[in-house]
Amino acid sequence: MRTLTKDAPNKIGEQITLMGWVHARRDHGKLIFIDLRDRWGIVQVVFNPKNKEVLLEASRLRPEWVVKIEGVVKERPEGMQNPELPTGKIEMEAMKLEILAEAKTPPFTLDTDGHEIGEENRLKYRYLDLRRERLKRNLILRDEIISFIRSCLHEKDFIEIETPILTKSTPEGARDYVVPSRLYPGKFYALPQSPQQYKQLLMVAGVERYFQIVRCFRDEDTRGDRQPEFTQLDIEMSFTNQEEILNLIEEIFTELIKKKFPEKHITQSPFPRLSYAEAMEKHGSDKPDLRKNKDDKNELAFAFIIDFPMFEWKKDEKRWDAVHHPFTKIQNSESLNLDGDPTGFLAEQYDFVLNGYEVGGGSIREHDPTILEKVFEIMGNKKEDVREKFGHLLTAFEYGVPPHGGIAPGIDRLAMILAGEPNIREVIAFPKTGDGRDLMMDAPSELEKKQLDELHLEIKKKKK
Ligand code: ASP
Repeated sequence: MRTLTKDAPNKIGEQITLMGWVHARRDHGKLIFIDLRDRWGIVQVVFNPKNKEVLLEASRLRPEWVVKIEGVVKERPEGMQNPELPTGKIEMEAMKLEILAEAKTPPFTLDTDGHEIGEENRLKYRYLDLRRERLKRNLILRDEIISFIRSCLHEKDFIEIETPILTKSTPEGARDYVVPSRLYPGKFYALPQSPQQYKQLLMVAGVERYFQIVRCFRDEDTRGDRQPEFTQLDIEMSFTNQEEILNLIEEIFTELIKKKFPEKHITQSPFPRLSYAEAMEKHGSDKPDLRKNKDDKNELAFAFIIDFPMFEWKKDEKRWDAVHHPFTKIQNSESLNLDGDPTGFLAEQYDFVLNGYEVGGGSIREHDPTILEKVFEIMGNKKEDVREKFGHLLTAFEYGVPPHGGIAPGIDRLAMILAGEPNIREVIAFPKTGDGRDLMMDAPSELEKKQLDELHLEIKKKKK
C-alpha cells in the first residue's frame, strides 16, 4: 500500500512504500540522497551500500523521474534533522526502487517561486510549472475558497444550478465569443458573458436562491489583467433588496477570512458603503483602495460602491448604454421617458471592491417588462429588435415574476488578492496569455477545410 509523504513521520520503524517524483538528488560518497516529492510534501530517502543493486539503480535517477520506493522509516540522527521540513525529523532507508517513468530535464527550474522565469515558457509547460510549490499552494487555496463559499451558501438554502454554455448573446458590455452551428447554416451560438438571463429566468421558475461557480466568456481587447474566460460566484435571490444582498456578501467574506485566512485583517467592518458620487469625489475612483497601510500584505479593505448612474453615453457608437447591464432597476423609473436625457438616473446597482480592485458587481433587477422595454429602446434598440433579442425574458416576466436581484463576485481576482499574487494568471490552472493564447495547447488554431465546410464557413484572405 502507498504511504503519502505527510504520513511518513508517523511510521518510524515501519516498512512503507512512497511514490512520487525525484525532487532533488545529492551524492555523498557512497551514499545517494533523494528528496522524494508527492502532492503533500517531501521525504528524504537514503540509498546505502547495504543494498548494492538498489544503490546502483539509484545512481541513474535524475530530477523529475517518477519512482516507487520501498524502505524503512528512521528517525534522523541529531544534528541531521531539518526543522524547516514537516518531515525533517525522519528519512527513509531505501530497500527497493522501481522507476515508473523517466523524465527529460525540465526547461526551467521547479524549486523556486518561478517569478524569475519568462511567462511564455511557464505557460507553454504549465503542467511542469504547476509542480512548483507556490502554484500548488495557489490551486489549493482557490479550492478552499470555492468550497467554503459553496458550503456557506448551501447552509443558507441556495441551490447550485448549471446553466448553458452554448446560448444566445447577453449584453454585459463586451463582445461575444461565438460558436458556429453545423446544423443551422449561418447561425451561431454565443458563449455567455455571464448567466445573467438564465439566473433571472430561474427566479421566474421559483428557485428563489440560486448560485453557481461559473465560467464567463468575454471577447475583450487585451487589457492587462483580464482573461477571455474567468470564473464568477454568480448569485441571484427573489423577494430581496440591496441591503440583504450586500449583507450576504459581507457575511460570506468576513467568515471566509476569519476561518481560512486568520493572518489577514479587514480594515473596516461593516464594509463601508460609498455612493458612486462620493467615491469619485473623495477618491477619484469607483474602486478606491481604502487600505490604511498599502505595504501591509495582510490588510483587506472591502467596500461597496452604490448608487451608480444607470446610463452612460457611448461616444463611438453614439448611443446610451447601461453602466452595469440593462436588466438593472432604475431608481425613480416613473419619470423615465424615451425622449429625455437619461443622464441623471441612478441605478440600484452596487460594486464590490477590495484593495483597489473591482471584485464583483450586481443589481436589483427591473422586473416590469414595460420599463425594461423602454430601457432597451433608450439603449438604441428598435422596438421590434427588442422582442427579437429579449422576447424570451419579457415574455417570462408576463407570467408572475418575483422582484429579484443578485451579484457576481469574481473568483480569480479574489483568489489573486488573497494569495498575494500580482496577477490572476497565477491562480488559474491553465490561463491564457494577456493576448488570449493558450501556449500549451496552441489555441486558437486553424481548422481543416473539411471542418470549415461542415460549419458552412469560409475564411476571408487578409487583404495585403
Ligand atoms: N451578470 C453581472 C456581471 O457579470 C452580475 C450581476 O448583475 O449579477 O457582472
